[in-house]
Amino acid sequence: MQALAIIVAAGRGERMGAGRPKAFLELAGETLLARAAAAFAAAPSVTGIVAVVPGSELAPARVLLAPLAKLRAVVPGGERRQDSVREGLKQVPQGFAGVVLVHDAARPLVAVALIEDVVAAAADVGAALPVVPLVDTVKRVRAGRVVETLDRGELAAAQTPQGFRIEVLTAAYERAYRDQLTVTDEAMAVERLGHAVAVVAGSADNRKLTTPEDLAWAEGRLKDMLPA
Ligand code: C5P
Repeated sequence: MQALAIIVAAGRGERMGAGRPKAFLELAGETLLARAAAAFAAAPSVTGIVAVVPGSELAPARVLLAPLAKLRAVVPGGERRQDSVREGLKQVPQGFAGVVLVHDAARPLVAVALIEDVVAAAADVGAALPVVPLVDTVKRVRAGRVVETLDRGELAAAQTPQGFRIEVLTAAYERAYRDQLTVTDEAMAVERLGHAVAVVAGSADNRKLTTPEDLAWAEGRLKDMLPA
């Protein structure tokens, strides 16, 4: 099944402590956004890419992404992540009947194989996302006190790309906005519909870069990945 990728890059990324929005920081000479987008351009099932960027970065982002194969549009994002995703969804062509992928530009080391795994599972089940097991024991904490310890065996950390058959994501978003719900990922909106969401194995390299230390880690990983 063919897929259209929406890459969200419209966050401010304040924890990075840099002057520019996070997705426009460079990793070994290339922006996080361009790196993430290149992975989708290389994925055989992806036929189109939409980038969602801060309004202030629209012009430079269009220049930056112009050489990208499969680029459909570069559009300004919204206040919350979900608002940015909705702006991206407006660029899905009428009559598109495939899978929509939503990916954080802040995960620039996503592998093509992972993208294809998500597309296959989303085509099959209707919704899918990569997860990684938690290494730490997780506590529910309130007002400085532990309320309970959660069963780590049942917990997983969600990554992107998250994939959905277009009609599933559209219905989930319509409902979330009607109910004035804030969702922290797209799967959360789909779960609320009672629709099944499949998981595929995520990867440590696909971690979200949030702090300057994460950026330094990613530089190191890239060096490791280069052939000697
Ligand atoms: O802030 P956080 O790291 O959770 O953001 C995840 C992704 O969502 C980032 O790639 C960020 O650029 C994007 N985002 C967005 N629009 C917003 C907020 C976040 O596109 N309003």
